[in-house]
Amino acid sequence: MFLTITTTGTPERPATDLGFLLHKHPDKAQAFSTSYGTAHVLYPEADDQRCTAALLLEVDAVALVRRGKGKGRGGAPDAALAQYVNDRPYAASSLLAVALSGVFSSGMKGVCRARPELPGQARPLRVEIPAVPARGGPGLVQRLFEPLGWTVTAEAVALDTEFPEWGDSRYVRLLLESETLTLAEALRHLYVLLPVLDDAKHYWVSPDEVDKLLRAGEGWLPGHPEQKLITSRYLSRRWSLTREAMERLELVRLAEADDSEVEDIDNAVEEETEAEEKPAPLAVQRRDAIVEALGAAGAARVLDLGCGQGQLVQTLLKDPRFTEIVGVDVSMRALTIASRRLKLDRMGERQAARVSLLQGSLAYTDKRLKGYDAAVLSEVIEHLDLPRLPALEYAVFGAARPRTVLVTTPNVEYNVRWESLPAGHVRHGDHRFEWTREEFRAWAHTVAERHGYGVEFTPVGPDDPEVGPPTQMAVFQMLTGNEKEAKAA
Ligand code: SAH
Repeated sequence: MFLTITTTGTPERPATDLGFLLHKHPDKAQAFSTSYGTAHVLYPEADDQRCTAALLLEVDAVALVRRGKGKGRGGAPDAALAQYVNDRPYAASSLLAVALSGVFSSGMKGVCRARPELPGQARPLRVEIPAVPARGGPGLVQRLFEPLGWTVTAEAVALDTEFPEWGDSRYVRLLLESETLTLAEALRHLYVLLPVLDDAKHYWVSPDEVDKLLRAGEGWLPGHPEQKLITSRYLSRRWSLTREAMERLELVRLAEADDSEVEDIDNAVEEETEAEEKPAPLAVQRRDAIVEALGAAGAARVLDLGCGQGQLVQTLLKDPRFTEIVGVDVSMRALTIASRRLKLDRMGERQAARVSLLQGSLAYTDKRLKGYDAAVLSEVIEHLDLPRLPALEYAVFGAARPRTVLVTTPNVEYNVRWESLPAGHVRHGDHRFEWTREEFRAWAHTVAERHGYGVEFTPVGPDDPEVGPPTQMAVFQMLTGNEKEAKAA
């Protein structure tokens, strides 16, 4: 099995930087033993202009069989000969992927202590693999690599060049070229996609493969058009693992999609109202309405559930009435941005004591969320699939039980007033639903009833006589014992 990676360079950015990136010196040929044979790393060419690293994996067919998973696809367990005579030693497959991640682990992680600036830089890359078993043929190879920024040349390899009438084998000769990727990205693509193309792993796929997949797929797998096929094949079609991976990828995608949302809507509002006296953007009006409602409720210790990038947390921090503010989000990425926005690492001790950010999913009860005065769910519920909403309801109103809960969500009736929004569309691709005022009220009353709260509604943004306000807010207050009795009577 053989794979080469070539880069080109200039005297200022020499191609031999590849050696730093791979943590393997171009002047040395090196060998590493793996459980299935020996991996060799060598550089057939290495100068400023052009540098090629080759990974050659010499597979020990006997070791493969002894470990019990060496069969070629379709080989019956008792077909003794098939165990030894198969394509494993020659074709790039999961074995090569595992060798790749073992031998070039720092390269794959994108760390380089000697030259920390290098891994982040894209450079011209050319990857060649003479024989890739490609179930799905050259077409699938293209669908897998092209969305990632590769130019793909995948030629089917004839079964036998002397007998072209025999047709093509299931192998392709693969050439990948890109100018826009970093080496770490390239290695992670190969690590995941080679076994996907082969569609047969040489080892038992255990639950920790989901973590490996998500780690290697970070930044490119969520939202890949073939995400489902990649996930399912990578996990050897184990349905429960595939489902878990798909769910986790969905959460990542969701969080990433959200990043642009608030700005998009605000820009739309701003554009439309520019001719008038230019009121504050809707997101600002929403935060003002929330702060006012929290103040009116006398809340001091506040949860911002689904805090996103921390804009509300930042606003609350500026107001001394709020003594403790906790932002919660499922997205690590959003929380990282929030923590940068708040400059958490440079904050004075007293400020820092007032604020914390927690990662967690609102679909699960969480002890950390108990005992607060108020919780805010600002533009969050519409991001959950409707069947998941009762889980959030229970976690917030049933388990955490703050005295006050504020919920904001778009009012779908108002959408006709957004000129930029085609009829019948929701405001953001990631909204699972958008409710009319009627629907929102019905939901809120049911929730209040079920969990012992009273609820009132406040419009946010211009309250249109026909279609209502762009954002609707429900203010829930926990009922006291007397109020409950009065209600029951
Ligand atoms: N509250 C912010 C962000 C709204 S976007 C604002 O008003 O601007 C929705 C946020 O909810 C995203 O940051 C998303 O990551 C988060 N989210 C979606 N589903 C979630 C869940 N199940 N648990 C926790 N957070 C979730």
